[in-house]
Amino acid sequence: MSFSSLGLSPSLLRAIEEKGYSKPYPIQLEAIPAVLLGKDIMAAAQTGTGKTASFTLPLLQLLDNGKRRKPNHIRALVLTPTRELAAQVADSVATYGKHVSLKSTAVFGGVKINPQIAKLRAGVDVLIATPGRLIDLYNQKAINFSQVEILVLDEADRMLDMGFIRDIKKILALLPKTRQNLMFSATFSDEIRKLTAGILKNPLQIEVSPRNAAAQSVKQSIYEVDKSKKTALLSHLIRDNNWEQVLVFTRTKHGANRLTKKLEQDGISAVAIHSNKSQAARTRALSEFKINKIRVLVATDIAARGIDISELPHVVNFELPNVAGDYIHRIGRTGRAGSEGEAISLVSADEVKLLLGIEKLIQQILVREVETGFIPSHSVPITHLKDRSSQQKKAKKPGHDKHNISANKRRTKHSKKLANVSRGQVKRK
Ligand code: AMP
Repeated sequence: MSFSSLGLSPSLLRAIEEKGYSKPYPIQLEAIPAVLLGKDIMAAAQTGTGKTASFTLPLLQLLDNGKRRKPNHIRALVLTPTRELAAQVADSVATYGKHVSLKSTAVFGGVKINPQIAKLRAGVDVLIATPGRLIDLYNQKAINFSQVEILVLDEADRMLDMGFIRDIKKILALLPKTRQNLMFSATFSDEIRKLTAGILKNPLQIEVSPRNAAAQSVKQSIYEVDKSKKTALLSHLIRDNNWEQVLVFTRTKHGANRLTKKLEQDGISAVAIHSNKSQAARTRALSEFKINKIRVLVATDIAARGIDISELPHVVNFELPNVAGDYIHRIGRTGRAGSEGEAISLVSADEVKLLLGIEKLIQQILVREVETGFIPSHSVPITHLKDRSSQQKKAKKPGHDKHNISANKRRTKHSKKLANVSRGQVKRK
């Protein structure tokens, strides 16, 4: 099925053609006609599925109806959890809307508020905002919500994770009661359902892919390594494999800074992005990474959330995330929009519980690797999808781990540089 059969206007079809999309993604097939009909929707979709176009295109069409925005008023509001996502959605709105005469802008914290106030003065058709800054703008009387026709909550689950629930409720109370609501979330937890129950009216429910689809389309493996050797192993892997564009996740901002420093000391260009960095520094880091000026981008989960870097070849989990679901978000940065990607996790023995949590979530035991020169003195205990908790209790010394063969049956193609070491069941590169 083509975009032209979805009921989109010639101006939007032209922008889509110029963007080079040949056919709609599944979420677009379902969402676009429904939104055009004025329906509320509730979509379970992650970044990478084409969700942004699925709400942006029909939203632009609905707003392109000759109605005029009043000064300081907005006609559609897109709420996003992070500045990066707000900027990206704004880019999409500008790209898809380039042949319609609607005004859009993004507002988020970390940058000066006055230019944002100035932009809002004449009114805006589509405002993309993070919740905190939106409330600041409202408090400064820079914005009036009485003309809002459409509300989009993008990555609603993440907004709740980030503690925006009170801000969101406050904003909802300021909006006109009659409006169209479009809600996107990677998962639908009880908390999300509770929130949606109060917002959505008879929504069309869309689930474009199973929860773990990203995990299945990406080549995943773990490297067993002692904690103290992780940085050295990462430098080694980047150099040895000639990786040119690597997104590395750390659990903390400090960890991101520390790792970046060490990589730089090793002669590998790297920049950290996290919430302590200014917006300007984050935007610069992201664009330098996209054009291959920086080899490694080190990010925390929150900073990386929603970053759209297409065809990213390598994602590395320097540490496993505390929340198993974040693993799926992280590896969703690679192998996107049909391109191949590889996700590697550096796992030390103390992370076995986190590993098991992830493997249970994705219903897959991850392929294990051990790199020559980095053989761990504390190996990661073997994991099983079925409960055998006693087997995960203790980290073992190398040399006694018969079960590893079962984990490694799943290894795919890695077999170069097989090391001749005693723990024969795990293949070493
Ligand atoms: P999103 O999930 O909205 O972040 O989109 C993921 C990526 O897919 C973005 O880089 C889009 O430009 C791209 N994309 C969205 N829709 C299509 C389409 N129908 N055909 C090809 N690429 C698309």
